[in-house]
Amino acid sequence: MPDASTLSGAADKASLDVAIVGGGLAGLYAIYRLRGMGLRVRAFEAGSGIGGTWFWNRYPGARCDVESLEYSYSFSEDLQQAWKWPERYGTQPEILRYINHVADRFDLRRHVQLNTRVKSALFDADANEWTLRTDKGDVVRARFCVMAAGNLSTPRVPDFKGLQDFRGKWYHSGLWPHEGVDFSGLRVGVIGTGSSGIQMIPIIARQAKHLHVFQRTANFSLPARNAPMEPERERRHKAEYAARRRAAHDTPFAIAGHPKPTRSALEVAPDERKAAYEAKWQEGGSISFLYAYTDLLVNKDANDTASEFVREKIRSIVKDPRTAELLAPKDHPIGTKRLCLDTEYYETYNRDNVTLVDVRSDPIRDITPSGLRTEGGAAFELDAIVFATGFDAMTGALREIDIRTSAGASLADHWAGGPLTYLGLMVAGFPNMFIVTGPGSPGVKTQMIASIEQHTDWIANCLDHMRRQGLDRVEATPEAEADWVQHVNAVADSTLYPLANSWYLGANIPGKPRVFMPYVGGFDRYKRRCDAVVADGYEGFRLTRQAALVA
Ligand code: NAP
Repeated sequence: MPDASTLSGAADKASLDVAIVGGGLAGLYAIYRLRGMGLRVRAFEAGSGIGGTWFWNRYPGARCDVESLEYSYSFSEDLQQAWKWPERYGTQPEILRYINHVADRFDLRRHVQLNTRVKSALFDADANEWTLRTDKGDVVRARFCVMAAGNLSTPRVPDFKGLQDFRGKWYHSGLWPHEGVDFSGLRVGVIGTGSSGIQMIPIIARQAKHLHVFQRTANFSLPARNAPMEPERERRHKAEYAARRRAAHDTPFAIAGHPKPTRSALEVAPDERKAAYEAKWQEGGSISFLYAYTDLLVNKDANDTASEFVREKIRSIVKDPRTAELLAPKDHPIGTKRLCLDTEYYETYNRDNVTLVDVRSDPIRDITPSGLRTEGGAAFELDAIVFATGFDAMTGALREIDIRTSAGASLADHWAGGPLTYLGLMVAGFPNMFIVTGPGSPGVKTQMIASIEQHTDWIANCLDHMRRQGLDRVEATPEAEADWVQHVNAVADSTLYPLANSWYLGANIPGKPRVFMPYVGGFDRYKRRCDAVVADGYEGFRLTRQAALVA
């Protein structure tokens, strides 16, 4: 039988029960949960501090677009009662402070090895063990790996010619200098108008001498209506915190408190519909808006009513009609790309020192020593360039690690045509390697921390089951993986999501296979499926004992 308290059966110092890749919200919860089972764990984190996304994305205005009372861990009632969020939406510094508080409160920090990037992971089938190698020369053996490396953690700067000769300074939203950047008096160019660009543009505009925004695709954004936390709202929420967290598990986005829609947008009279959208617009927040009617994400005609409402808002806010028309998205239905939340984004284009440049009709050709130039020959003189150009999402972080098995499989090859997983939790042919909120999971389409907790609890329960049964290997079967991938695609195809060229589809990375990666069937449906798989004896997984290996 395996050692009663560990799963590795070995006791030397280089050997762990579980090696965790990443020291963000997922990695920290994995430490908490798995250490709590008496397992020997260590997390490897490339950053010089914990926090993942919230450690790296320090650009001006970085803020969560899920309300802070929701976007927080639920595993400790004491923690959720004690922590005070000062605003409706948490800023990056607040969220990072919260994460550091959690690490100290639960003594997690000593299990994280900072400044260490995992470069490779090799599964030796005979030894039934993973060997991880890091950029610091560590060689770490572990029975299990938990990949908690993040979905939006591989920043991407487009391959523009001439960047190395640019005389000014340049930045990427996801690699922001810790000391901050003062744009006062500078001519600044921001490239990209996704969530990151839309949050930073109003703030940079207030500092810069002039701001040019280079927009390739207009994005829908709704007002966040951020505000100081109302004490009464906090009190009511906290009084029913546990029940709210449970209720969130029965919703598609893992967020409670939004009444489930009951009617199609096409069932109601135009005036009534407009009034409903207006109420949501005034309330702020994206879930509430997309939850106005049952069919906004599945029926194009229904969606058109909501898309047009927001386009009309943009036209009413932005004074210059040409700029307004450029800002009004027409190439994708609202909600099929991540719906942005902003504070005075559209209003910013009414400032004299802000110019919107359409790089769809006239793309950026190259970066010059003094700015940038378009294909059409227009030249822009810039002192600083900010790339808000996004990430190699969902697969980037894992593909940067050379993941192989002694049977000759490599994750890069297995995923050459797009990511394949079973439940987003495991990859067939890669035993004892779990993924937290990876492709095939609903994670990025939900309140992320709820998904992190649900995935990690599932993994912990699986390991606990194996330990009690004397088992030491778990793997997804190829059939279960194929069925799940087909299901993920079928669900996506029954919605409007594939109509947008989004990072959900890998469309932002030239050459990346165009495969819809998140599971959009909803957190509630996904969790029920995960629970049913366990109830059916881990259906689709093979759990075995490599008896000869176990002392
Ligand atoms: P993003 O949504 O992928 O946006 C990248 C932007 O850069 C797009 O406008 C894209 O245009 C543009 N771009 C890329 N390459 C370009 C090129 N060669 N020339 C011109 N424009 C180019 O990235 P993001 O804004 O960093 O957001 C990523 C995700 O992170 C979000 O969807 C969200 O899930 C998360 N996030 C959340 C928050 C929050 O909680 N509030 C904040 C920031 C980020 P195209 O659309 O034409 O490709």
